[in-house]
Amino acid sequence: MSTELTRNFSIIAHIDHGKTTLSDRLLEYTQTITERQQQDQLLDAMDLEREKGITIKSHPVAMKYKAKDGITYSLNLLDTPGHVDFSYEVARSLAACEGAILMIDAAQGVEAQTMANLHLAMEQNLTIIPVLNKIDLPAADVEKSKQQLEDILAIPAEEAIPASAKNGIGIEDILEAVVARVPPPVDNDDNLLRASVFDSIYDAFRGVISYVRVFSGTIKPRQRIKLFATDKTYEVKECGVFTPKMTKRDELIAGDVGYVIANMKSADEAKIGDTLTDSTHPCLEALPGYKEIQPMVFSGIYPVDSSDYENLKTAMGKLQINDAAFTFMSESSSALGFGFRCGFLGLLHMEIIQERLRREFNMDVISTYPSVIYEVTRTNGEELIVDNPSFLPEAQEIEEIREPMVRTFIMVPSEYIGDIMSLVMEKRGELTHTETIDDTRVMLTCELPLAEILVDFNDRMKSMTRGYGSMDYEHCGYRAAKMVKMDMLIAQEPVEAFSTIVHRDKAETYGRQLANKLKDVIPQQLFVVAIQACVGGKIVAAERISAMRKNVTAKCYGGDISRKRKLLEKQKKGKEKMKQFGKVSIPQEAFIKVLKND
Ligand code: GDP
Repeated sequence: MSTELTRNFSIIAHIDHGKTTLSDRLLEYTQTITERQQQDQLLDAMDLEREKGITIKSHPVAMKYKAKDGITYSLNLLDTPGHVDFSYEVARSLAACEGAILMIDAAQGVEAQTMANLHLAMEQNLTIIPVLNKIDLPAADVEKSKQQLEDILAIPAEEAIPASAKNGIGIEDILEAVVARVPPPVDNDDNLLRASVFDSIYDAFRGVISYVRVFSGTIKPRQRIKLFATDKTYEVKECGVFTPKMTKRDELIAGDVGYVIANMKSADEAKIGDTLTDSTHPCLEALPGYKEIQPMVFSGIYPVDSSDYENLKTAMGKLQINDAAFTFMSESSSALGFGFRCGFLGLLHMEIIQERLRREFNMDVISTYPSVIYEVTRTNGEELIVDNPSFLPEAQEIEEIREPMVRTFIMVPSEYIGDIMSLVMEKRGELTHTETIDDTRVMLTCELPLAEILVDFNDRMKSMTRGYGSMDYEHCGYRAAKMVKMDMLIAQEPVEAFSTIVHRDKAETYGRQLANKLKDVIPQQLFVVAIQACVGGKIVAAERISAMRKNVTAKCYGGDISRKRKLLEKQKKGKEKMKQFGKVSIPQEAFIKVLKND
């Protein structure tokens, strides 16, 4: 069979520009799906994904389209997650396509996310079909959007297709363009099986379902297959395509996009980007582009109630079966007890996992301040990866520390350039490029340390621009930086839970903030307590808590005895939850207040 009549493509768009609406229209137009089914499909989607307006798992769909030339084509639409945390998944899905529809809201114009997504598609050499959507809106400015295509994205304006996904305008033009402009898949003629896994989901009844794109050869039930990354072999139980329901097929051939079920127990057996081949007649080399997924952000997650430790572990295990990018390891902290060190692709991924633990598993958890991963070269030449301040070697043993960087695209109204520039400087960033988008907006391209944008960058950018700014970023490697470990000493005793890796120039400010916070949450003791932020044995910030003078019952003089007893009892109870650090006892509550990241 030939692949001449197959077209594999995805839709890339900034959030809210109309990707979902257009996908639905394409399915309707090709009669792949009825309106009723559509609602069912919507209900299937995870609540959380819908709330956040993002898709995390890609759901490919096969459509049949009878084109104007009278020929019926097989179109495979691959959905892509809409967030930078999942950019590796986006890249692997795009690598399974030959073309992409680039959707731009004609009333909004090019946005930050449009840039980042387009970069990914261009890296894969995809044919780009620009679509200007929402032309039904009075505010739509097709000419201006075309100009932006040329000026900002270097895409010829005449290629753009005006459309309204909502009103069904331009849908046929888009389908015709997919058939005419997107090249058919190229079959490698040695007939050896090469299929790339671009996503996988876990089903409680059927195990792992891998989404694959076949590049050469065929996949059939009962065939023995091998995965390159793990070198494990399996027998194919079932294969098929999505129409959009999973529909069994006798075989998948070169050019096909579909699914394979093969007795895998957990999502990390079918690694995204891995190559699947026949185990008796394997291809020699894997398809290019596979990377082991590396978590970029780490945080400790602890049960609020320590008796929930085992339940938390079970819940995390269940989440991991379906999400190989989430990692966790037991860890214990003198302050928070037993918990887990967890790795995430980014902040959104972290938020999703925490939220799922709360909603789906009813877990009450505390998470510690998020931190990034550092590359460390020791003076003896040894290379280390450090995600936890306590594993950072002594300063004199460190030759160099490198921190992860991101290329950030920030689109803002021109009058805020100055404010954004100072924010970028404050966050140790560098402006690399400025581009005028139209008479009111500019796009700033900056390089920033990931650690600096983790917590409040987006919020501050949004509030500075009164909500008119938008941003997106992509990872762009590691850069040497003067990072140091900062310890917090409470009454001369280091309290590990508060140690952090910070930039040397920021240690003082951060140390002062933390000391100040601690001063408010640590109760007075019978002696003066010094709180010190310390870098390499040198104190960079300090606070003191004065000694307690009053008896706790003092204010009850004249009061009734039962109230006095109650107070004493309360004090006793509080003591039970105290952690002892040298001479000082700190209530659990204090740690939670300081570490909790709300
Ligand atoms: P996504 O985030 O890219 O998937 O965007 P959606 O498809 O969810 O669309 C975002 C919003 O724009 C929804 O309220 C849609 O109804 C609306 N929308 C999508 N396409 C059009 C269009 O062509 N015209 C108008 N006026 N609204 C549209």
